[in-house]
Amino acid sequence: MTIFQRDLFTCQRPECGHLESSTALLVCDHKVPHRGDERLFWDENNLQTLCKACHDKIKQRDEQSSLHTRGVWH
Ligand SMILES: [Zn+2]
Repeated sequence: MTIFQRDLFTCQRPECGHLESSTALLVCDHKVPHRGDERLFWDENNLQTLCKACHDKIKQRDEQSSLHTRGVWH
């Protein structure tokens, strides 16, 4: 919630910049995946506001790239 206020309820993806008044459609996103690291998890500098549409897009992309990485390294 503090992150949403700091970011003025605006999606931080430069291509988007959507101002979303409904917090139900905003997602607090970790820029660097915390992977269980509490320091990263709570670091406000590592948090950004995204609208749900962007978050879903980015998540999809990450899942695809992690699948790809697994294919390369395994
Ligand atoms: Zn967005």
